[in-house]
Amino acid sequence: MKDESAKIPQATAKRLPLYYRYLRNLYTLGKQRVSSAELSEAVKVDSATIRRDFSYFGALGKKGYGYNVKYLLSFFSKTLNQDEMTNVALIGVGNLGTALLNYNFSKNNSARIVMAFDNDESKVGKRVGNVPIYSMNDLKERLRQEDVTVVILTVPAIAAQTVTDELADTNVKGILNFTPARLNVPPNVRVHHIDLAVELQALIYFLQHYSNDAENS
Ligand code: ATP
Repeated sequence: MKDESAKIPQATAKRLPLYYRYLRNLYTLGKQRVSSAELSEAVKVDSATIRRDFSYFGALGKKGYGYNVKYLLSFFSKTLNQDEMTNVALIGVGNLGTALLNYNFSKNNSARIVMAFDNDESKVGKRVGNVPIYSMNDLKERLRQEDVTVVILTVPAIAAQTVTDELADTNVKGILNFTPARLNVPPNVRVHHIDLAVELQALIYFLQHYSNDAENS
């Protein structure tokens, strides 16, 4: 792997995350192939450059067919995440937390939930989806030990800020917030907010009000 990527010019390597991100979106949407013209439009890189970039990885595209999204994606993920694995912790092993632990991003080989925390002592010491559940009393120490940099928050909204504050003085740089609470964090911490109830409501609203042209909204 190392030898293979060593041959890729730096300028090409810099564009890989861009391609990768777009391809992941396509893959999530269920698209199986993409033309260099489509890619070019989306990532704002001219299609000749894209074809040249991709040629470094072997003949991945076929004329009139385009590129196989799944194949490209697996190629890029190997190239980009050669030895990088992000250790993730989940806090709040309720219904949603349990579902995420069982899911554990098994199709993604660059991030993994390695530990979970809960303040309910009856849950502490158990495993869900083979992930150990620890006490909140051990939070800082455990996060530091395993160099956890990302936390998934699935506690009740009312506990979200208190728990977030407890992440100070750890290596956590990113929080995936599944609670409806808006979090105050230091400037070096990034929060991504996923409110499933709001998303569902928004979808239903669109279906009710824009049923004929909802597809591309
Ligand atoms: P359940 O029915 O298992 O309680 P739930 O998703 O309905 O699931 P919530 O009340 O949303 O439960 O709480 C989610 C989880 O967060 C629970 O396991 C709860 O014990 C845990 N929790 C609540 N407050 C805290 C806190 N301050 N720190 C850590 N975990 C917490």
